Amino acid sequence: MNHDEFITVAHEARDWVVNGQGDFLREAGDGATEVVAKPDRGNTWTCATCGAEAKFDENDRAFCPQADDTLPTLDDLEKATGEEHDQLVARIREDTVRDTIVYAQRSLQRALHHADLRGLEDAWASLTTLHELHDKGYVEFDAPLEESPF
Ligand SMILES: [Zn+2]
Repeated sequence: MNHDEFITVAHEARDWVVNGQGDFLREAGDGATEVVAKPDRGNTWTCATCGAEAKFDENDRAFCPQADDTLPTLDDLEKATGEEHDQLVARIREDTVRDTIVYAQRSLQRALHHADLRGLEDAWASLTTLHELHDKGYVEFDAPLEESPF
């Protein structure tokens, strides 16, 4: 399943035909809209596939934390049963562990260099997930980084 489309708010303006009190009568012209505000990170973005709240990578690109190439959280693992549980466990691979570490490091960099507190929250969330999975024995291998971003 793709988790690469998101639902969030955009503000549009529309011309109405109104009466003297400003009450709506009908749409003016062809009903075309003008974009007042495009979607931005300040609003919540949710995955159009599974409804999970999206996260943002270091390029400010939204991604779904439930996508197959991200680590599940311990909370999700403990709530899931049977086949669903097996699918979550299958997402714990060397590459997803490494990606999570890299994501945390970049989030931390963002927090340090741009005084972006959200970067700190993202880093904290990622490292907490990793730590909990490791603690419970789901992550058994080391995933060394090729080079430190610092
Ligand atoms: Zn999703």
